Amino acid sequence: MASFGAALLEVRLARKKAIFSIASALVVALQVLGATQVAAAQAKGLNPALSLAHVDNGLNSALAQNRHYVVIVSLDGFRWDYAKRENATHMLALAKQGVWAPEGMLPSYPSDTYPNHLTIVTGIYPEHHGIVSNSFFDPDRQKSYSAFDPATVKDGSWYGGTPLWILAESQGMRTACLFWPGSEAKIAGYRPTWYAESNAKTDDTPAVEQARIDDAIALLHLPPEQRPHLILMHYSSPDNEGHKYGPDAALTRAAESKMDALVGKLKTALDATGLPIDLVVLSDHGMAHVPSEWITLDKFAELANFDAVGSLLYGKSEADRERVYNQLKKASSQFMVFRRRSVPAELNFNLNAREGDPVIVATGPYAIRAHGVADGTPDAAPHPGTHGFDPRKVPEMKATFIAAGPDIVKGKTVAPFENVNLYPWLAHMLGLSPAKNDGTLNILAGTLRDGGGVPGEDSEK
Ligand SMILES: [Zn+2]
Repeated sequence: MASFGAALLEVRLARKKAIFSIASALVVALQVLGATQVAAAQAKGLNPALSLAHVDNGLNSALAQNRHYVVIVSLDGFRWDYAKRENATHMLALAKQGVWAPEGMLPSYPSDTYPNHLTIVTGIYPEHHGIVSNSFFDPDRQKSYSAFDPATVKDGSWYGGTPLWILAESQGMRTACLFWPGSEAKIAGYRPTWYAESNAKTDDTPAVEQARIDDAIALLHLPPEQRPHLILMHYSSPDNEGHKYGPDAALTRAAESKMDALVGKLKTALDATGLPIDLVVLSDHGMAHVPSEWITLDKFAELANFDAVGSLLYGKSEADRERVYNQLKKASSQFMVFRRRSVPAELNFNLNAREGDPVIVATGPYAIRAHGVADGTPDAAPHPGTHGFDPRKVPEMKATFIAAGPDIVKGKTVAPFENVNLYPWLAHMLGLSPAKNDGTLNILAGTLRDGGGVPGEDSEK
């Protein structure tokens, strides 16, 4: 059965190659003439609801053209247990065809969107890639980064590590990012060959949600020389609903089902290309219900000499840092306070100045901030749902991980694992040599058909 299927696939691929060879020749000719937008223009079927920027990084190398394809879909805030809870037909079917973490995947600390999206694509902890929170202050630069400020989001100098799309582009493989956090920045001299610029006003509209799928499929229909082998896409649902209504609300549950339906549409469309595609559906973190009261740190300590972003505290002198540490030490059972160097090692949050000092760590799902609103201005209660907490203390923080495709064994489950281990696993499937990272291929090697070994070597080693 397996060899018959493979033979069929090869016939289909050969046929596609023949069809595309004339188009490819034309493209090469136009590129010689200096046309830089050729590839984007050639991609038939791009959805006008989403405009893609195109960068001419050249054609896929001969080696890259022989690699499989990996499509990664991130459903923001899709908690590890949502698929089962909603009986998410498409995601559970994908899990059956491949591999699933039924007890969830461990996000890195803090369990927030930007830190974890960068960790997923670099394999290094937030304090190593530098995006230690969605918003933070850098005492060395004396500047702030915010995921809500397009100017900082697009500034590559904030990002450390080698995101997968940069790894691929630098090794001759073309990529596309449809809203992945950080993908609009030029990092280490590269941008993805295709990328969408995030627009908070339109990203969540049904048209743009569908457009990510249409554009991914259109790009996969490009000639082999141009086709991206790695496509990343990010959806901000059901995180938006989880914050607004809480993780158990009907509207949040409806958003989970909506995302499952989109995954189903994408899977059907990917299958129809006939290409060998590994599909990875994951999330950055989960979602917990939080009590409706803020915990405000300046009620316990004088923070006048501090810069603060959310609950991150940046003391201006050693005396101030030590004083506030002592004032907060026994202030509340709802948070712990550490001098940065003493933050427990398992959090990997003790060596980057962007983390502040002292460091506040919530003991449960509590909404903590440094300051309240100014006197006289109305103070809104915290959102009923949020994240950011230590997944070992707040299991609702655990994320989703499901994947299936030609490189992945069928019907396997994996125990909770840290998301830094995705990077060497994804690089292996793409045939890329990974950059230095905090993960190891051993953790997920058992989910790979080749056991994670080098071709030709004994995979049992
Ligand atoms: Zn969120």
